[in-house]
Amino acid sequence: MDCQTTLEHLDCVRPNSGDIDLPEFAEARAHLAECASCQAEFGSRQYFDSEVSRVAVDVAVPTSLRMSLLATVSGSVAEFAESAAEASVETESRPPTVDGPLPLRRVRLIASLSACLLIAAVSAALWRPSSTQLSIAAIQSQLNLNLPKVTFDNSFPVDLPPSWLGQPGLRVSETLSGLDFDGRDGHDGAAAYFAFSAGRAVPIRGVLVAIPAERISELPAATVFRRAPVAYPQADVVSVTWREGDLVYLCFVAGDTTLLERLQRGMTGTAA
Ligand SMILES: [Zn+2]
Repeated sequence: MDCQTTLEHLDCVRPNSGDIDLPEFAEARAHLAECASCQAEFGSRQYFDSEVSRVAVDVAVPTSLRMSLLATVSGSVAEFAESAAEASVETESRPPTVDGPLPLRRVRLIASLSACLLIAAVSAALWRPSSTQLSIAAIQSQLNLNLPKVTFDNSFPVDLPPSWLGQPGLRVSETLSGLDFDGRDGHDGAAAYFAFSAGRAVPIRGVLVAIPAERISELPAATVFRRAPVAYPQADVVSVTWREGDLVYLCFVAGDTTLLERLQRGMTGTAA
């Protein structure tokens, strides 16, 4: 089993669970035992997943977001029932195989059911400009993988971008992190983790940052997420920036541009 396949399988492992000991993860465990890079990646994914699960427990969710979460969960359950029915038909019509490989379908099924627990993130770094106006280019260039563990102080009203509401497959963490860009008291930006999954593809994980438009020195031209141009502020980080209402949004994904393009194409659900 190669690194990519191993990590895809391990995406099914819920944090703080005994999942990793299940027989279906035997191959992934064997790879993990010998691959330091996968150990590190798996450890960091589990850490983020457990952090998001923890903060997601006891914070109120906007009604519209809760509706989309519920819709996503019921969609997964329906998918499960459908797949289980197909699987039983296959079992009856084919001779049983002994010691065959774990059906990929089953792995993907587990992934779709546990996708609601799988959220990871990149984050914005602290940044000190010389004025109170903020430059998007500077924020983008300062991204790193250290997430500040500071709850947003509600210094400005923040909400999901209207174009992200009602999107099936989208999950957003319920606690916002506060970002300080200018070194002064009060938060200048709010950030949330998100994960977006379409079909049985591995979820796209990233972070969404919202900043009051009045604080941004050069407003982005795009007002629609799907049409916002993709920027490459750093190696392995892609970003889009757009404005909706009084907020400028920055969406960051660790990976290459195909992930963000998938995200933009996937955001086609009807708005709530
Ligand atoms: Zn590996």
